[in-house]
Amino acid sequence: MATRRDFLSLGAMTAAGIAIAPNASAQTAESVKQLKPPAKPVIVTRVTGDNTIQEAYKMLLDGADTLDAVHHVCLGRENDPKDHSVGLGGLPNEEGVVELDSCCMHGPSRSAGSVGGVQNIRNVCQVARKVYEHTSHVMLVGKGAERFAVAVGFPTENLLTEDARKIWMLWKESNSQMDWWGPGMTSPQWKDPYADRPAPKPTIDLHGGPSSQLRPVSPGSGPIPHHPTAEWAETIRARAVTLSRMAADLDIPAANRQFAVEQILWPSTGTIHVSAVNAKGEISGATTTSGLAWKLPGRLGDSPILGAGCYTDQDVGSAGATGSGEENIKVAGAHTIVELMRQGLSPHDAGMETLRRIVRNHNGDMTKIRLLDMQYYIVRKDGAYAGVSLWNTSATGKPRVFAVHDGTYRVEKHAYLLEGTPLDWPPF
Ligand code: ASP
Repeated sequence: MATRRDFLSLGAMTAAGIAIAPNASAQTAESVKQLKPPAKPVIVTRVTGDNTIQEAYKMLLDGADTLDAVHHVCLGRENDPKDHSVGLGGLPNEEGVVELDSCCMHGPSRSAGSVGGVQNIRNVCQVARKVYEHTSHVMLVGKGAERFAVAVGFPTENLLTEDARKIWMLWKESNSQMDWWGPGMTSPQWKDPYADRPAPKPTIDLHGGPSSQLRPVSPGSGPIPHHPTAEWAETIRARAVTLSRMAADLDIPAANRQFAVEQILWPSTGTIHVSAVNAKGEISGATTTSGLAWKLPGRLGDSPILGAGCYTDQDVGSAGATGSGEENIKVAGAHTIVELMRQGLSPHDAGMETLRRIVRNHNGDMTKIRLLDMQYYIVRKDGAYAGVSLWNTSATGKPRVFAVHDGTYRVEKHAYLLEGTPLDWPPF
């Protein structure tokens, strides 16, 4: 889920080295999983911090439709004003307006719906479903999507909570170059914002060939130093102190100040994707998000894009994403994973291959790849599943994890392509 940066934990930051990805532990876990016959039903998603995954699993046991169960988990996040990455309370765009994106696919009926850039309606996951239930369209955006939602009975409300408004004010008042404007990393004008910090050596051997040839250069050769300099750490600390004072002036309660400051230093990403298969092998998937904090108005990420943020094929399985939406759109991530599974790859291998394509798109240039982040959540029709991540740790050095319920609820480590943690984008 969201990358939550602990700006007080500079020790943890320095612990975040980047290494070749032999990924031995993930591979062992994968081989153990392959020995165990997959169980159904199964739900794969991010950790939600509530009971909706367990409730959704019970719904599946009781014979509920798979999309109802998937949406039950999404609704829990959309309705939680404290989750600043989804629905009510989501962090707004640069103008202070919350814009939500969602899409879903219902395997048994092979239906799909999507909405993007929706204001004033909190439960966009259900609006996306209504698009295919009540129209001949698949995707509605902006004001048209909002008017449609009202027409089919959704209430309107201001989605910008007081908490989120104050965090946005803090961003406005402190904002300098920390926005999404300026040349993106594929522009010829792009400059490495961390040019003063050595990039990790390429950990992927490109051969100039397809992503299937991307392999660790020398597996097991140990971490490549990628530590923040003491000077950089001191700059962050000083900035955090200033922001904290500004947060106090804005009446942000003391208990919320660290979170608010983190949102300025490291704008929140979040999103929830849920994929599920029931005992009969019926499959559904859904993704919902408020997108990137402080995004340009009208920006759509991958979450409303069928085939990128979510893709479900009743013959094969389902996949979805959280992370750098622009990157995921360019590899049609969820669709790519499902198609690779159709060709016989395991959920794990399909996810890893898709991550390699993201790396390939930047020619293995680690000055760029260190600014990217991506997680995929994957289930196959037989109940086999995987969670895969571009990087293995969050900035606090904690392993990247996902939630799964296949009769037992548990949190598992993502398999990963690269060891280390991404740097912040937009850059501080
Ligand atoms: N993928 C989402 C987007 O680009 C953000 C996220 O997952 O954090 O809007």
